[in-house]
Amino acid sequence: MDTINCDVAIIGAGSGGIGAAIGAAERDANTLIIDRERLPGGVVASSWVHNWEPTCGNGPLTRRLWKRMRSMPLGAADMEFTISRTGQNGQRLPTMPFELWAYRQAVLDEFAGFDNLHFMGGHTFISVNTDKRRVKSVVVENEAGMTEIHAKIFIDASGALNLARKCGCANMLGTDSCHDFNESVAPEKADRNQLNEVNWIYRVRPGGRPDISVDPNSIPENAHRSGIFQAVMPNGDILVNICGSGNYSPEIPGDYERVAAEQYSLALNTYYWRVASGMNPDWELVGMAPSLGIRESYRLRARYVMTVNDVFKFGKHYGKYFIGMTDHPLDVHGTDLEARLGSIPYGIHYNSLLPVEFDNLLVASRGIGATHIVAGSCRLSRTLMTCGQAAGRAAAICALSGKLPEDIRAGEIAEFETCPDFAIENANRKLTDMGLL
Ligand SMILES: Cc1cc2nc3c(=O)[nH]c(=O)nc-3n(C[C@H](O)[C@H](O)[C@H](O)COP(=O)(O)OP(=O)(O)OC[C@H]3O[C@@H](n4cnc5c(N)ncnc54)[C@H](O)[C@@H]3O)c2cc1C
Repeated sequence: MDTINCDVAIIGAGSGGIGAAIGAAERDANTLIIDRERLPGGVVASSWVHNWEPTCGNGPLTRRLWKRMRSMPLGAADMEFTISRTGQNGQRLPTMPFELWAYRQAVLDEFAGFDNLHFMGGHTFISVNTDKRRVKSVVVENEAGMTEIHAKIFIDASGALNLARKCGCANMLGTDSCHDFNESVAPEKADRNQLNEVNWIYRVRPGGRPDISVDPNSIPENAHRSGIFQAVMPNGDILVNICGSGNYSPEIPGDYERVAAEQYSLALNTYYWRVASGMNPDWELVGMAPSLGIRESYRLRARYVMTVNDVFKFGKHYGKYFIGMTDHPLDVHGTDLEARLGSIPYGIHYNSLLPVEFDNLLVASRGIGATHIVAGSCRLSRTLMTCGQAAGRAAAICALSGKLPEDIRAGEIAEFETCPDFAIENANRKLTDMGLL
């Protein structure tokens, strides 16, 4: 087996991993980022969620990426970077769409700016060697064989805690009971198999001549959808997310195949219905995303688990622990939480990245320590990039100094812009109306 030694090894090159790699490299660590796919991108690429909605996040990395993408012809919408916020009146702002090719190029350009950052695509993490509270090495494989990677600090950015779970770290899945974390707005009963919604995204081109002759009456009724989420791409194409559809649990055998087939047909039938019924007669289908969009997976039972009570407090009391700030409503599909609570910005706690059981492992993905409800708003691509960047910086400091991640203070690694005063005022009003302030 080949062996590689590095300071910081990251499993997963999705939003969190990209941020982590850049964060570690900019603090001088010899950094290796591994993904089973040939190119970075994660869910943004595989499920066509190349759209920051409703804003670009609030960290320096997303700001740089936005600038890079805008400099490419039709790479990103012709809109100025906006930091974490809703509109003055609490309303959602328009989406910030960009092309996948532009995103990938911007990320690869960022990576290329560091001699000490190496991307290892096409390698799947398969096993881990641990010694007491330390991760010693991970084993990855591709068609040519296996490679053992030794690092001082490891970051799990796999989106599904694939490394942390192999290490035996405690984790959570699905809805939590209101009693688990004292969350007044959570349901009475926990349900491991009830996760945030999955959707299959497709892309259309208005003004085309769709060559379909489907009888609208033959299309299943659940595909008769007038309300869909649309993100208009820089070239005028539209990414369509039908929302309000399926549930998938990684723990039910065969569930992925079932839901993937169901959602693929549903999305396609929605398209047919909109054309055939005359709602969008000129929509030409450009394509279907390569895979199902999965919002939620395993979450870390971290040293600090963020709950809705942190949201209600705006995390004010824990400000010194923050490494990022959310800019999205509590978007748990199928609930009325978003309508009730709207967009309340809150800080991401550094300790939500740290497993209880290991000293040299961090998590930087949608699997960070948050309850199911809170995961509804900290799972967003741009927020995870900012948190990932902080995680990478912490990892680099530790790898080069011998410190442990638990010794790092958020102030040493965090870099984000806080939300404007009116967002705080809006949220305060909301919480006062709810009797929570
Ligand atoms: C339908 C939908 C709509 C969304 N809309 C928005 C939006 O409008 N705005 C927004 O900001 N966010 C949106 N999101 C959320 C956001 O895109 C994701 O939550 C975020 O990008 C996830 O990043 P991540 O780093 O946690 O994981 P991922 O993107 O899943 O990255 C994990 C990476 O790890 C790799 N990996 C996993 N296991 C292994 C292994 N064993 N070996 C090697 N590599 C491995 C994967 O290949 C992947 O590249 C949406 C998500 C969905 C599903």
